[in-house]
Amino acid sequence: MTGETKFSVLVSLFSWIQKTKTAAQKRSKFRKFLETFCKPDDYFSAIRLILPSLDRERGSYGLKESVLATCLIDALGMSRDSEDAVRLINWRKGGAKTGINAGNFALVAAEVLQRRQGMTSGGLTIRELNDLLDRLASSDGRAEKISVLSTMIKKTNAQEMKWVVMIILKDLKLGISEKSIFHEFHPDAEDLFNVTCDLKLVCEKLRDHRQRHKRQDIEVGKAVRPQLAMRVSDPAAAWKKLHGKDVVVECKFDGDRIQIHKNGAEIHYYSRNFLDHSEYAHGMSDLIMQNILVDRCILDGEMLVWDASSNRFAEFGSNQEIAKAARDGLDSERHLCCILPFLPNHLIVPLTCHWLDVTFDILYVGDTSVIHQSLKERHELLKKVVKPLKNRLEILLPNGGLNTHRPPGEPYWSCLAYSMDDVERFFKETIENRDEGIVLKDYGSKWEPGDRSGKWLKLKPEYIRAGSDLDVLIIGGYYGSGRHGGEVAQFLVGLAEQSDSNTYPRRFLSFCRVGTGLTDEELDAVVQKLKPYFRKHEYPKKAPPSFYQVTNNSKERPDVWIESPEKSIILSITSDIRTINSEVFAAPYSLRFPRIDRVRYDKPWYECLDVQSFVELVHSSNGN
Ligand code: ATP
Repeated sequence: MTGETKFSVLVSLFSWIQKTKTAAQKRSKFRKFLETFCKPDDYFSAIRLILPSLDRERGSYGLKESVLATCLIDALGMSRDSEDAVRLINWRKGGAKTGINAGNFALVAAEVLQRRQGMTSGGLTIRELNDLLDRLASSDGRAEKISVLSTMIKKTNAQEMKWVVMIILKDLKLGISEKSIFHEFHPDAEDLFNVTCDLKLVCEKLRDHRQRHKRQDIEVGKAVRPQLAMRVSDPAAAWKKLHGKDVVVECKFDGDRIQIHKNGAEIHYYSRNFLDHSEYAHGMSDLIMQNILVDRCILDGEMLVWDASSNRFAEFGSNQEIAKAARDGLDSERHLCCILPFLPNHLIVPLTCHWLDVTFDILYVGDTSVIHQSLKERHELLKKVVKPLKNRLEILLPNGGLNTHRPPGEPYWSCLAYSMDDVERFFKETIENRDEGIVLKDYGSKWEPGDRSGKWLKLKPEYIRAGSDLDVLIIGGYYGSGRHGGEVAQFLVGLAEQSDSNTYPRRFLSFCRVGTGLTDEELDAVVQKLKPYFRKHEYPKKAPPSFYQVTNNSKERPDVWIESPEKSIILSITSDIRTINSEVFAAPYSLRFPRIDRVRYDKPWYECLDVQSFVELVHSSNGN
């Protein structure tokens, strides 16, 4: 019989897997579920609930924790200021009762649900649950989402609903890897998924565990799981790992991985997570039609944003902004100028930005997959297939590639390395040029879907001091999750607004959010010292104390503010050398990957770095 596997059975499996300690036991529980409790017709329905982040049949729910919290509150018919509602909204904090669950949304939700739902299973089948999840994803308005959630609540008990919440958040915390799930399902499942990124197809084709499946090659129109790079610590380690191989070193471009599938006039743009990003079509598809000289192909590369007014790559993060502009139906070139209104007037430069695709590999040409050929051979094909167009559609080839020269030193974006010195020199140039890092590739290797075993290596500069210490003031705190649940674990730090030299600064501009760098003890010491001055705000969060200037961006809002600057502490922070234009914070620039270097108990609060000095620092390190 079909369509009968109950969700309650899957929930028992989840609880078992979660409780079981060893990987082997977890795997055998899953195998038993497939053999005994799940009908083969239900394999896809079940596995898409077990590996929700790999399911591409359903769109996104648009429900991260904070929105899900308010939707659940309404679905349960609770008042927004009831104790449980506040608990859900402040799930990171926990409270007297939540304590141990703080930082784990599903557990906090389970606590709240337990008081409202019965113990008896709702009897929902996994198919019915999938239908409800489809409705949740396809519903536009909030009201519709609430109505679907309330149906789900009616048809489940608290335990079941807790897992539904985890499925919606796409994180089941089962402690079993995706690899193991695939392996137990079918010995060829991972391979087939890697070349198709299609969970449904995998579940349907591989229903018989004993029947081996002929290795399938990639196809135009089906996303392929991208080959990835293994991290190495320094040029020597990289060189050792690729010992005896022909090596090519390439700049690691800082955009978004993109796989372009062209089939006649049909073009798809698949991201690293195999989502189809149609927003790239605007501005790219015409170029591809004109400059790709074959009817069918798959190209692998990085999508960047080119700023024609300053003749360089636009800042990290611009991809999202320009994509948003394209989605909103605005002309992306012009729109990018006006989506940076947070810059003070003197920093506004007219931007003319557009997509730039840097193709570094080719996987398919005409009717044939070419992933089995060597990188060297694939480069030859790339030359034949792509007619490069300056700053629009570039190809990356050793000792050439990209029509844009790198200033100054090393003129190439890619070169063959014959010694460790070659790698070191190229890497040094990368740091000077402020690129993200380098990727080293075995020139004789084939392209392997989903592989991160070391045929490609990545080397990135670690945190480099931004030229001098950045002494910033803590102005707020964010509650942590997991191990740090219920306690402040990250800080919102600010820069001082310049005051005349005889007075202390009066206002501080939010600058960045920083959480790493301190040991647990050091972090705890800072938190304990500041605790008496935390000003908590229950929902809805109130405006900050008047000393602090912030933006309206909700991503910036801390969970607590420091009552006043003179009560606070200075932190010395370091960062990747690059700064980013800041949309989220009030200061004109923010830092990428900031890290706390040390706590400056020795520095009084008023010796905080001021905005003007910081802007000068940015300009001087950018060579302006
Ligand atoms: P990271 O956050 O460091 O980019 P990641 O986990 O996204 O890491 P990695 O496999 O570590 O991915 O690094 C490879 C990524 O680097 C690719 O997915 C691609 O987006 C990017 N990249 C930039 N330049 C290159 C290049 N020349 N060759 C291959 N990948 C490149």
